[in-house]
Amino acid sequence: MKKPHILLIYTGGTIGMIRDFSSGTLKAFDFDQLLKQIPELNLLDCSIETISFETPEDSSNLNPSHWGMMAQIIEQHYDKADGFVLLHGSDTMAYSASALSFMLQGLTKPVILTGSQLPIGDLRTDAKENLITAIQLAAMRQESVALIQEVCIYFEYKLYRGNRTTKINAEHFEAFASFNHAPLAESGVHLSFNKGLLWRSKNTQLVVRHQMDAPVILIKIFPGLTPAILDHMLSAPEIRGVVLETFGSGNVPNAQEFLAPIERVISRSIPVVNVTQCSGGSVEQGLYETSSSLMHMGVISGGDMTTEAALTKLMYLIGFNETMEGIREQFARSLAGEISL
Ligand code: ASP
Repeated sequence: MKKPHILLIYTGGTIGMIRDFSSGTLKAFDFDQLLKQIPELNLLDCSIETISFETPEDSSNLNPSHWGMMAQIIEQHYDKADGFVLLHGSDTMAYSASALSFMLQGLTKPVILTGSQLPIGDLRTDAKENLITAIQLAAMRQESVALIQEVCIYFEYKLYRGNRTTKINAEHFEAFASFNHAPLAESGVHLSFNKGLLWRSKNTQLVVRHQMDAPVILIKIFPGLTPAILDHMLSAPEIRGVVLETFGSGNVPNAQEFLAPIERVISRSIPVVNVTQCSGGSVEQGLYETSSSLMHMGVISGGDMTTEAALTKLMYLIGFNETMEGIREQFARSLAGEISL
C-alpha cells in the first residue's frame, strides 16, 4: 500500500525560530533547512512535503486573511495529500483551529495544528515530540481511510478537537486545555484514542468557505464596566456581530441601564452571542435573574462553546450573510463538534 503523504505547512511561530544566543531574541529561520536537521522524520512511515507561508508570522499577527491562506493551501493540495500538519504559533492557535473547522466543510482528512513553547533547535525543546507525533497522527489510517477527519490541535502528548481548545499557559509545555470535551487521543507508550469522540462529517465533499466577516466585537463583562462604556463599544457603526463573555452560567448585571445598550444593538439586527468567561461549563440563560433578561431580549446562547469557537463561528455565519434567525438556528447546532447538545 502507498505510504500516506503528509503536507507540512509552516505558518510561523516559535517552533521554526532560532535563538540568537548573543541577544537572546528569537528570529525566523529557513524552515526547509531546519527540517533537514531532524533526521527522525526519515523514520516516519509516510512521505512529507513542506510548504511555508511566504512571510511566516508570529501568530499574534494572524487575522482572517491568514486563515483564508491556510484553507487555500489545504484546498489546493487536498487530492494529493492524505493529511495536513500546520506549524503555528501557540498564541492564537485555538482561533485558527476553530476558524478552519468551520471553513473546511465536509473534511474527511486530518488537519492538525501544532507548535511549541521552545524553538526546535533548543536543547530542551518540546517541538520535536509535538511535530513528530502530529505527523504520525495525521498519517494514521483505519481500513484505508483517515482515522482523524477533523481539525485538531496536538500539544504536549494530547490531541484535542481544535474548536474545543484554549491556550491556558504561557510557560508550561502543557499550553492547551479542552475543558468541555475530552482529548481525542493521548500519546504515551502507545497512542491511545477515544474513538467514540472522533468527528465524522455528514457531507464528505470538501467545500471551503472563505468568507469570514471580521467586524465582530468581543466584550468581557467585569464588575465596574459602566453602561456608558458598554454603550460606546456597542454603538460602533461597523459592528456586525457581538460576543459577550459573561459571568458564570451567562450572567450580567441586570440594571436596565446596563441592559439597554445590548437591547439597542439587537434592535439593529446585530446578533449577540453569550459565552461564559469560566474555563469550563456552559451558558444557561434563564437559570438566574441576571441572565433571563438576556434570553428575553434575544441574546443567543453559546452553550459550552469556547470564546474562540463562538467568535469564529459568528464571523463564519455573518460572512455567509445569514439572517439573525439563521444565526440563532446555527448556534443551536453543532457544525463541527464545537458545542455539546
Ligand atoms: N508568540 C508565538 C506565536 O504565537 C508563541 C508561539 O510560537 O508559541 O507565534
